Amino acid sequence: MSDLILELSGIAKAYNKGKANEVTVLRDIDLSVGAGEVVALVAPSGAGKSTLLHIAGLLDTPDAGCVKIAGQDMTGMSDRKRTAIRRIDVGFVYQFHHLLPEFTALENIVLPQLANGVPSKEAEARALDLLTRVGVAPRASHRPAALSGGEQQRVAFCRALANAPRLMLADEPTGNLDPGTSDQVFAALMELVRGTGLSAVIATHNLDLAARMDRQLRMEDGRLVAL
Ligand code: ADP
Repeated sequence: MSDLILELSGIAKAYNKGKANEVTVLRDIDLSVGAGEVVALVAPSGAGKSTLLHIAGLLDTPDAGCVKIAGQDMTGMSDRKRTAIRRIDVGFVYQFHHLLPEFTALENIVLPQLANGVPSKEAEARALDLLTRVGVAPRASHRPAALSGGEQQRVAFCRALANAPRLMLADEPTGNLDPGTSDQVFAALMELVRGTGLSAVIATHNLDLAARMDRQLRMEDGRLVAL
């Protein structure tokens, strides 16, 4: 089995193809992420980070190129199979938490596991373990509205990891927080990632946060270059 968790080769993507307003976002993206490796993706807004993360996470398909997750080539795979692999192997984190407001922090992490057939006791134990790792266990029974912005994001990290994916894709995960909180929440994210041996690609504008990851890449004219 391949040691690489994510492999992108020759990825290209354009929007509004063939029209006057065609925009080429990704030209020729190659990226390999090893087991347990954390890669920073640094680029200004509009450079194509979200497009790349969505393609890597099987939420979108490239015009050209190949996506492999844990050695498995996704090219030509049915939507059903792609969805199944995404649900098992990929966890997404966004700038906004997107937690379900009517459920508690714990329930937000339990529900994706129940949907995957995990028994409720086991799902609750895992949710509590994840919340403990990010320091939010005392808030487990609170709904998102009763949590601070930093706590909401910590819960969102746990939810992304609920089904023990091999890869986390994060799009400006602390971009909505003030600098002090952002620093602490990012530290919690890194501890969670390191503690679970996860591979991750984390998009950020923040060069200090990027420097704390294993490798830093910049998006430039639809390609990735070392920072
Ligand atoms: P980033 O995440 O780096 O801000 P995006 O991947 O969201 O960048 O977008 C890259 C470029 O592609 C932007 O110019 C954006 O306007 C354009 N774009 C993104 N999605 C679409 C879409 N569905 N249709 C047309 N253009 C899009």
